[in-house]
Amino acid sequence: MLNQMIYAGQKVQGLESGFNVINPATEAVLTVCKSASINQVNDAVESAKQAFQTWKNTSDTEVTEILNRVAADIQAARSEIARLITEEQGKPLALGEMEVDMALYWLQVTNGLEIPVLEQIDPMGKKMNVYHRPLGVVASITPWNWPFMIAIWHIIPALKAKNCVVNKPSEYTPLATLRLVEIINRHVPAGVCNIVLGTGEVGATLSNHVDVEKVTFTGSTPVGQSILAASVKELRQVVLELGGNDAAIVMDDVDVAETAQKLFGSAFFNAGQTCACIKRLYVHENIYDQMVEELAKIADSQVVGDGLDKTTTLGPLQNVKQYQKVKALVEQAIAEGAHVANNKTADLPAQGYFLAPLILTNVAEQSEIFATEQFGPVLPVVKFSDLDEVIHRANQSSYALGGSIWSKDIKRAQAAAAQMEAGTVWINSHADVSPFTEFGGWKMSGMGYSFGLDGLLSFTKKQAIHLAS
Ligand code: NAD
Repeated sequence: MLNQMIYAGQKVQGLESGFNVINPATEAVLTVCKSASINQVNDAVESAKQAFQTWKNTSDTEVTEILNRVAADIQAARSEIARLITEEQGKPLALGEMEVDMALYWLQVTNGLEIPVLEQIDPMGKKMNVYHRPLGVVASITPWNWPFMIAIWHIIPALKAKNCVVNKPSEYTPLATLRLVEIINRHVPAGVCNIVLGTGEVGATLSNHVDVEKVTFTGSTPVGQSILAASVKELRQVVLELGGNDAAIVMDDVDVAETAQKLFGSAFFNAGQTCACIKRLYVHENIYDQMVEELAKIADSQVVGDGLDKTTTLGPLQNVKQYQKVKALVEQAIAEGAHVANNKTADLPAQGYFLAPLILTNVAEQSEIFATEQFGPVLPVVKFSDLDEVIHRANQSSYALGGSIWSKDIKRAQAAAAQMEAGTVWINSHADVSPFTEFGGWKMSGMGYSFGLDGLLSFTKKQAIHLAS
């Protein structure tokens, strides 16, 4: 199992203290990784800076061909990578496979994009072309919930736009990302794509490095704020994809049983550990009891267990800190009067960071489990009677990543969607992202956009060249 950093085309052992990578389903140590020293982070950035001098002049065709070869190697290693994701992250193997498939889809769509040149002629006949130039060294800092896919989301557009990258994966889930960087290094010159290991300290050293031109960060809001604050001195570009607490609003004209299935899927996949999972469910009072009953039935039918077991539908929380946080939030909510609507007292495995899926009613909207990002397999369901009033309630959150409206009346749903404060609003689905469409949070959920042509161009700077007439 690869557990070493890769920079300047070499596998390198970290010089600082080791950290355990733990399988959250068994609590077994998968491997021990050594953290990078400050000098090693500097070396990784330096290798990227050197490689940039050549990579920035590589032809578009060659970059496209290289990324196609990377895709082919990922495809060939699909089962092995999916298993690695499940072992380090905990999600069911089918979801690990889906993570690899989605990552490949993003890679292929991004690789198919063309970076445009804008050609203009002014009324005096002067010709001006606007080009998108690569930035230089990009630092990519990734979280533990979708480690492989998010690394692809960062690294591929950066390379496609001819930047060089240094990634720092989450210390909880570095293994699939190490495998990705190893595969990329089979096809790119030394120094073009690098990875350093360690905790937040290493992330801070990397993201504050004077030679880093851009930081692309996916993770929690407080860390995103610290990265942004540190970018001021160098006027470094920063894209922040941060936390969420998405609301879904369900009107009374939906098919309750069918909608409950979809809502449950969008709230509980990856055990609720997805930035754009539904976290606050508002259901019209006319169908509230029926919806809660359906959701409770689905919750009770889940099989919670090791992701490698084929019968498992919900895996563990990814790490002990997250497990304890969600557990404490649930206990606090219950102490404050919340009811658990499902019967699940659950046969949870003795080892591992498992929590049963919970449907909660009688939850106050100002309570911590409702108002903060809990990031676990829990869904509070509250009632509403008036659409305008509930949109106002949903918009009270400081997070504004995603939201959704569920109704058969598409016109009404579209009008409601336009009133929701969120970077993405889905109608009759949720968290259904696409590589063709920009994705980014409003308010405390982020800054800047990923995906689509705008996402790719965010890894470039514009240069206007004027040709005198
Ligand atoms: P986190 O912020 O704790 O860690 C993310 C990464 O930042 C890790 O690699 C970590 O080591 C590193 N880091 C920690 N402190 C740092 C510092 N001071 N400077 C630089 N790097 C530092 O987040 P997490 O717990 O790994 O991930 C869960 C969070 O990610 C949730 O809030 C979730 O909503 C968010 N997320 C957002 C999106 C999105 O697209 N908006 C997607 C996935 C996850």
